[in-house]
Amino acid sequence: MSERLGVAHAVALSSGTAALHVALLNLGVGPGDVVVTSTMTFAATANAITYTGAEPYFVDVVPETGNMDPAALEQALSRLEAAGERVGAVVPVDVLGKAADYTRLEPVIAAFGPPMLCDAAEALGAHHAGRCVGSFGRASVLSFNGNKIMTTSGGGMLVTDDEAFAARARYLATQARQPVVWYEHTDIGYNYRMSNLLAALGRAQLSRLDSMIERRRTLRSRYKQFFSTLDGVVVFGADHDDDDNVWLTSILVDEAVAGWTTEELRLFLQADQIESRPLWKPMHLQPVFASARGEITGAAQHLFETGLTLPSGSSISDGDRDRVFARLEAFVRGHPGGA
Ligand SMILES: *Cc1c(COP(=O)(O)O)cnc(C)c1O
Repeated sequence: MSERLGVAHAVALSSGTAALHVALLNLGVGPGDVVVTSTMTFAATANAITYTGAEPYFVDVVPETGNMDPAALEQALSRLEAAGERVGAVVPVDVLGKAADYTRLEPVIAAFGPPMLCDAAEALGAHHAGRCVGSFGRASVLSFNGNKIMTTSGGGMLVTDDEAFAARARYLATQARQPVVWYEHTDIGYNYRMSNLLAALGRAQLSRLDSMIERRRTLRSRYKQFFSTLDGVVVFGADHDDDDNVWLTSILVDEAVAGWTTEELRLFLQADQIESRPLWKPMHLQPVFASARGEITGAAQHLFETGLTLPSGSSISDGDRDRVFARLEAFVRGHPGGA
């Protein structure tokens, strides 16, 4: 993986969540710290911050991509600095397979000083400004969970150019054993390593990564073509998706123009055993994080309320794919809309 990403070190772990946890511990994040992350993410990002005793602080996103909004981040960091709070890390997320805008985020973060840890769990194989996702920040986190672009059934990885950072992660992930022949421990460790069997599966998956991305891209193109003729519907983030890994394809629906809602489409597909789902419900709207602070513009909430993720997997058969499009056509015929 380090060869693939052009990163010096890769530490295979039991999950992306474990990778986030040890990476934050490596950065010295703990009780009393604030960790700034994107509100548009899977709960794992915020959970891992909470495991360390730090407080997650949620920043809203850019409507076009769903990734961390650099202007909102700057506001958040200014506010926290003025209040004299310690920001342990900033954790941008490469949501749905599109890299965060590191060109704009990096200088904002650098101006305030905290380390950047990238949650690239969804974006293995994506690029930004000619560089692989996974090569930004002090370290990046990958996930090989069953739903991700490549899988080990369950697994994750920490990738970094920093040798000491990788060594410390490996140490914490293997019960913090001191390098002596008996079992000697001076720190609390974790059982976070990846099993050898799953690593073998990962090596086979990695050799197929590009072809799996290509299959998803072909499916994305067909969705783009299908929805291009419908007013009030856009394929999310599809304007500039050459650099994406195209993990998931979602649509955004303007109900007033389209004449139908994502929930109507979801139920229509579900009636024919076709699963689709809303985008991530933002963290600041989750009951468990109801008291968390943040810099909220409403962009993530709007994406949640108008977005729907369609079948996107690389293993969908040609027959199933045709069935999805036949259902979409039937739905659109029954909902001529305002167009
Ligand atoms: C999947 C995911 C994770 C967690 O990875 P696991 O391997 O399932 O623990 C973390 N962050 C994001 C953004 C994810 O999508």
